[in-house]
Amino acid sequence: MRRISIFGATGSIGEQTVDLMLHHGGAETFRTVALTGGRNVARLAEMARALRAEVAVTAFDDCLPALRAALAGSGIEAAAGEVALLEAADRPADWIMSAIVGAAGLAPGFHALRHGTTLALANKESLVTAGPLLMAEAARHGARILPVDSEHSAIFQALVGEDLAAVERIVLTASGGALRDWPLERLARATVAEALAHPNWSMGQRITIDSASMFNKALEVIETREYFGVAPEQIEVIIHPESIIHSMVGYRDGAMMAHLGAADMRHAIGYALNWPERADLPVARLDFAALAQLTFRAPEDARYPALRLAREVMATRGLAGAAFNAAKEIALDHFIGARIGFADMAGVVEDTLAALSRRNGLGNAPMGLEDVLSMDRIARAEAETCALALAARRAG
Ligand code: NAD
Ligand code: MG
Repeated sequence: MRRISIFGATGSIGEQTVDLMLHHGGAETFRTVALTGGRNVARLAEMARALRAEVAVTAFDDCLPALRAALAGSGIEAAAGEVALLEAADRPADWIMSAIVGAAGLAPGFHALRHGTTLALANKESLVTAGPLLMAEAARHGARILPVDSEHSAIFQALVGEDLAAVERIVLTASGGALRDWPLERLARATVAEALAHPNWSMGQRITIDSASMFNKALEVIETREYFGVAPEQIEVIIHPESIIHSMVGYRDGAMMAHLGAADMRHAIGYALNWPERADLPVARLDFAALAQLTFRAPEDARYPALRLAREVMATRGLAGAAFNAAKEIALDHFIGARIGFADMAGVVEDTLAALSRRNGLGNAPMGLEDVLSMDRIARAEAETCALALAARRAG
């Protein structure tokens, strides 16, 4: 039986992973090693019982008593805290889902790779902040990383049986988000609720706003560069409002391979779970006559400054990705807190990158796991300063 662990089991991706495991036979099919979560310990315990996990880990120490109580009589171990998360990642497993949100997902993935474990990677922040490190670590230990982001799963599938050297371009599709049809001058006044009205995908609050600002696509452009090793100039972004094509690979002979499907993350998760085989997945099938048409348009530079910033990050490399991701997180916090406007988020990220480039020299900085985590903290503090300065300018 395959041994499986899920990091971030109680999140949107984690829930859907558990759902698919149960769909494929649950504890009869898989040996679940570790499930981890945050404050929702009741749900974590419920999943651990359903899959008969060895251990359930909450990220937060103060949640341990509640987790213990919820697991009473089950024989399942309970643990808490950052060290416990790493210990869980060190437990022998064949396949691990990395679905913790944010920079906290980086270290557990690293630990898993050291044991040669296959890493299903939903946590795009890992590649954005520490791509070269992560890929090198995987190569060193003969571990495989399977992409779970829908675009990257699509590209991965369009590359099956092909030679990367024959790739001319990679086209990432983007829905354009909730505000794609708004007049530009209205964007500055967009509210959180308006940015949350995503046309196609049902996701968490943060990633949905990142979709409206295209910060999510900006992260994905960097993710593409790091994972597939293509040059930044080979990566394009196209707005495709229907979200039916999940991304495309163009080859030297002019052929384009596109991956189509319903907007349902269980496809990408299920592909990684069953790879290299394909299994029946409970996702809707496309009805082309009902779809009738697929449309495309180029993203406007003025509407989506995040895409330009991603290009700058790729040109700088080094710790620029870590700084970019952290600054984006803080800018998003301030937008959600209504302290800055929707269009100000890019300004905060740009100011943060500029300040850190001057002071810390992002591109030439050494890059170990500790350097990345330390830059994450530094950039968060810098972005706080930039956001508050911007909020003060707006108020005054
Ligand atoms: P989520 O917020 O729904 O879930 C996050 C999980 O991480 C939860 O289990 C939570 O308890 C845990 N967690 C939160 N903070 C933690 C911390 N400090 N330490 C340890 N664990 C912590 O997030 P999600 O939408 O499932 O996204 C997970 C990852 O997958 C993200 O990197 C996201 O960008 C990526 N992703 C998500 C989707 C999607 O459809 N939701 C699509 C593509 C990629
Ligand atoms: Mg995606």
